Amino acid sequence: MRVVDLRSDTVTRPTEEMRRAMARAEVGDDVYGEDPTVNALEELAASMIGKEAAVFVPSGTMGNQAAVLTHTARGDEIIVEADAHIYWYEAGGPALLASVQVRPLAGRRGVLSPEAVRAAVRPPDVHFPRTSLLCLENTHNRAGGAVWPPAELEAVTAAAHEAGLAVHLDGARIFNAAVASGVAAARLAAGADSVMFCLSKGLAAPVGSILAGARDWIERARKARKVLGGGMRQAGVIAAAGIVALRTMVDRLAEDHANARRLAEGLAEVKGLEVDPRQVDTNMVMVGVRDSAAEFCRQLAERGVMAGAMDARRVRLVTHKDVSGDDVDYALRVIAAVAGGG
Ligand SMILES: *Cc1c(COP(=O)(O)O)cnc(C)c1O
Repeated sequence: MRVVDLRSDTVTRPTEEMRRAMARAEVGDDVYGEDPTVNALEELAASMIGKEAAVFVPSGTMGNQAAVLTHTARGDEIIVEADAHIYWYEAGGPALLASVQVRPLAGRRGVLSPEAVRAAVRPPDVHFPRTSLLCLENTHNRAGGAVWPPAELEAVTAAAHEAGLAVHLDGARIFNAAVASGVAAARLAAGADSVMFCLSKGLAAPVGSILAGARDWIERARKARKVLGGGMRQAGVIAAAGIVALRTMVDRLAEDHANARRLAEGLAEVKGLEVDPRQVDTNMVMVGVRDSAAEFCRQLAERGVMAGAMDARRVRLVTHKDVSGDDVDYALRVIAAVAGGG
């Protein structure tokens, strides 16, 4: 059976060039700072994202959690958008690991206003926790891959800094945001004190993410990575794929965005589905279904199209380098058939 996997861009397989680079990678013990391939990846990543330094971490979750640990003290409060990955999908990490309280603020497609952030910062008072960090997400996952308008990102970051907060950018898909908005990733990350991005999603590396920031801050984050169990040894074997990802896989994200757009436009015509192609900024399509999203996904899977249920009535489709234009056409026909009760 033909299979089109639209659950996530994390399912992407490494390219042949990545596998060759991995096989040949020069390695050393990275906990000693002696893996030349990891060092090269960290330098390349820092320069592409416009920060002084970077640290290679096994996952985006570890990158975000290391950032929260490094920016905060126990008992602090951190502000997140209510649909943020850090709040929904990181197993309560901020409470468990950094012992901070999370303050979720309702946003609009993942976007928070400077006013909302200002109003949420706790004034000095013996009763209150100290607000120390604002976390933002671009592109925004639960908002369907939504891209922050660069000016709004700048404004909310400035407001947070004025209030004395640090700003961490969860940029798991920051290069999707850059390609979609035509603004360099380094510019999108410029205001943030730290930024995390994933090599293992649309960029198709098998493993790994990057946490970047100022040099002295990254040295502290390196210690957080160690305590979280992320000090790896001959990690150059996987870092090699990350280098190929950054060199060869960024510009092609535009194809994924075009495919997502086409998928959304096709699905918008299907009766029984709710899809707004104008809300497709990058490589995700959110589909409202009439009955159970989980059941809808089960019926799609039976026909070889794999999708994820986000909520009771919302299905997420994600395009990536292992989904061709032809696969999109095929998925469209299958989804239309399932929606029509076929
Ligand atoms: C995937 C993702 C992460 C976490 O990355 P993992 O490598 O899966 O741990 C963090 N933030 C966002 C927005 C993501 O989409």
